[in-house]
Parts: sequence; C-alpha cells; structure tokens
Amino acid sequence: MIEYFARMALVPVIDVGMQIRVEGEGDTRRVVSAGGQVVTSIPGEACFWCLGFLSDELLARERNRYAGTQVDYEQQVISVNGLLASQAITNMLGLFAGFVGPSGVTRYTSYNALTGNMRSHPLLSGVDVNVCPHYPLKDAGWAVR
Ligand SMILES: [Zn+2]
Repeated sequence: MIEYFARMALVPVIDVGMQIRVEGEGDTRRVVSAGGQVVTSIPGEACFWCLGFLSDELLARERNRYAGTQVDYEQQVISVNGLLASQAITNMLGLFAGFVGPSGVTRYTSYNALTGNMRSHPLLSGVDVNVCPHYPLKDAGWAVR
C-alpha cells in the first residue's frame, strides 16, 4: 500500500527489513539464519512485485506470521539493522545525489549476517528493472475535482 501511494506521488520507496531465526530449546538453542534486505522502488521502473520482493505467497506468509501461527522469529534490534540502514542511505544518495555505479541504483540487496555476505538478491536476475506493468507512470497523480 505504501508503494502504491508513493508511486502515485512519484516518490521512491526504500524498504529495509531483517530477521533473525532461532531454533531449539535451552542448550540447543541457536541462530539458524540472520540477515535482511534493502529494496528500492523507483516510479516508472521495477516495483516490489516486479523485483519479486512481493508476491501473493509472501504476503500470505506474512499474514500468518503476524496472526501468531508462526512465532519462531526473534528480536531484530542488533548491529545488522545499522548495516542495512547504511545501505538504504547509500541507495538514497544514489537517487538524489548521483552516488551510483555504472549499473545505477541498487534495487534489491540481501545480507546474510552469519556469513557477512551482502549481494544483489538472486530474484533480481532476469528482471528488467527499467519497466513495471503494475504502476504505469501515466496513472500517477490524483485527479482534481
Ligand atoms: Zn511492477
């Protein structure tokens, strides 16, 4: 929904998310995954749906998670948030100050905190980041009545 309103106003959206997953009980309790992503949506170009960041399946999983049917996620306020926030600021500098490499603004970056690996998300391969059938630029703005 945020992306919809941002696209109508021709405003980019930079989304940051992370999670830490813990399994086991007592002495066997351990972190099995930790990481996150930074996703940039630019009006007129690939949106969260185009990038694979959103899908009906992923939204259904999120609804179930917040409905309490899946509660295996742990607190998320650690140093990883700082790293992801820094990448989001770098993306913003790319959008507004031209701080970008030859391939343009980073669209979908994933970070694995357990390996220290930050890279373009695998869902990006094969995606044309310059087009979006979901939010055509001609539909931006609101009609004045
Ligand atoms: Zn799209």
